Amino acid sequence: MSALVAEEEDAALAARMQALLARVFGHARFRGPQAEIVAHVARGGDALVLMPTGGGKSLCYQLPALLREGVGVVISPLIALMEDQVAALRENGVAAAALHSGVAPEAAEAIERAAREGRLKLLYCAPERLQTRRFLELLDVLAAQGAIALFAIDEAHCVWQWGHDFRPDYLHLAMLPARYPEVPRIALTATADAAAREEIAARLALHEARRFVTSFDRPNLFYAAERKRGDGRAQLLAFLRRQPPEGGGIVYCLSRGKTEKLARWLNERGIPALPYHAGLTHEVRERHQRRFLAEDGLVMTATIAFGMGIDKPDVRFVAHLDLPRSLEGYYQETGRAGRDGEPAQAYLLWDGEDAAWHRQLIETSDMLPEQKEMAHRRLDALVDMVAGTGCRRQAILAYFGETIGPCGRCDRCLAPVRPWEATDAARKALSTVYRTGQRYGAAHLIDVLRGHASEAVVRRGHDRVSTYGLGVDLPAETWQAVFGELLLRGHLSIDFERHRALVLTPRARPLLRGEETFALALPRTAAKGSARGAGMASAAPAAEPLSPSEQARFERLRRWRLRQAQTEGVPAYVI
Ligand code: ADP
Ligand code: MG
Ligand code: ZN
Repeated sequence: MSALVAEEEDAALAARMQALLARVFGHARFRGPQAEIVAHVARGGDALVLMPTGGGKSLCYQLPALLREGVGVVISPLIALMEDQVAALRENGVAAAALHSGVAPEAAEAIERAAREGRLKLLYCAPERLQTRRFLELLDVLAAQGAIALFAIDEAHCVWQWGHDFRPDYLHLAMLPARYPEVPRIALTATADAAAREEIAARLALHEARRFVTSFDRPNLFYAAERKRGDGRAQLLAFLRRQPPEGGGIVYCLSRGKTEKLARWLNERGIPALPYHAGLTHEVRERHQRRFLAEDGLVMTATIAFGMGIDKPDVRFVAHLDLPRSLEGYYQETGRAGRDGEPAQAYLLWDGEDAAWHRQLIETSDMLPEQKEMAHRRLDALVDMVAGTGCRRQAILAYFGETIGPCGRCDRCLAPVRPWEATDAARKALSTVYRTGQRYGAAHLIDVLRGHASEAVVRRGHDRVSTYGLGVDLPAETWQAVFGELLLRGHLSIDFERHRALVLTPRARPLLRGEETFALALPRTAAKGSARGAGMASAAPAAEPLSPSEQARFERLRRWRLRQAQTEGVPAYVI
């Protein structure tokens, strides 16, 4: 083929693409790499498309299916996703259908007949179907006639065993190229994690596939993270009250029980909220989801069971009342906000205990050693973003291999924090943990550090440990922050069985030995009147005596934690 002919063909393809884009989908122009992807697949190439949620992935397989002979077979993990897409396609005049467990046998037969007779352009199905003899025979017949336009593997991260959307049936899709070598495949996902990409490509046998990576930046998302004070509910409530009444929002919690309690608590405070988790009946989940999509200003308090396939463009915020378990998870969850391109908030409340809890889950799981290591790395990436003093967006995108300058739109950019050189304080804290036998929570340890001769301190003889009173120069709030960060970063862990006592981890050793330094973002309360000058603040934040109300609050907090340990034990986490 001469270069001239190739050029003519390119122009013809481009013209057909443009015409279909306008006529079928009603869009004036392609977005990002869509045109390139469509052309590549239309010519028969394999593709791996990595594009954030809302980026416009569907079009990347729907349009090539229209351009090629035969039916495009789309593998999709959720019935709701399939039905939404089929409805939208039909509305645009495209012959589309879905085969899934909810389709009656007669209807399924009619769909199969339509496919065999060449009357379908897009056929959605669940991955399980590709293991049924009946469906494979249909595909064999079509393939023999050259009547399969392409295979599209949507939500391809379902093949990824680390993700919470893992679907074993996706693994079988690796057989497609051997059985149907002539049919191009396109896999699409919003998973940005580099390790995940490699695994997805490998598991789907997409070795030759061209990769299309779009920036994962979500410019309309505003990122903020804050350390929880107490259980974080007061901060959450203040945040929710600042949100616009339109649209809706999601608050992610780690346990099922917590989503229900939180929904009740919010309703009592005049904020309409509904829980969503995998333990609710199918009917309740459906009903809550429908209301969330239809009504304005609803808050869904949810576990990560609420997520994939929620296509509500005007989700105005995603808040986390607990630290998620990876940066990837955090990115996916916050990515559900602002899909309409309008400003939206991502608000994370964290607590060192959450991190300690995740680490213990990893350690006590039945994962292989290298899997545990990977899980730790994924959590640490999130911890680095949370604990870091720099731009949040920069940290998030850096993890996904993108380099940007400070974004100017996150909490760190708008209210810069000063890194406080807290090595000395951290060592005193760790040392106090050690010298009191690794049996107490932060409240008691802070009493010891601040030389507060409480009844418990005196009874246990902790007014005689060598760090007693050594921390009197710092307010208790600052010590809370120090312990919180030591937990967050894994220098400390929690013995959940023994009244949540703080215990040292191997990571504490280099810090105790003086081989490592420890810096943290200066808490706002400690910042006033102290640590003058630019750069690293070496002066310790000035001590402020505890007010009676603060004292009472810490006491309440301590009692609350104890009660939690006794009544709930370990919360029921949801995968
Ligand atoms: P993804 O699967 O990547 O999350 P979708 O395919 O569901 O995203 O598309 C998200 C939204 O973007 C849809 O409302 C879709 O109509 C819209 N969209 C896709 N491509 C274009 C385009 N080229 N121009 C305008 N809107 C588009
Ligand atoms: Mg999609
Ligand atoms: Zn920023």
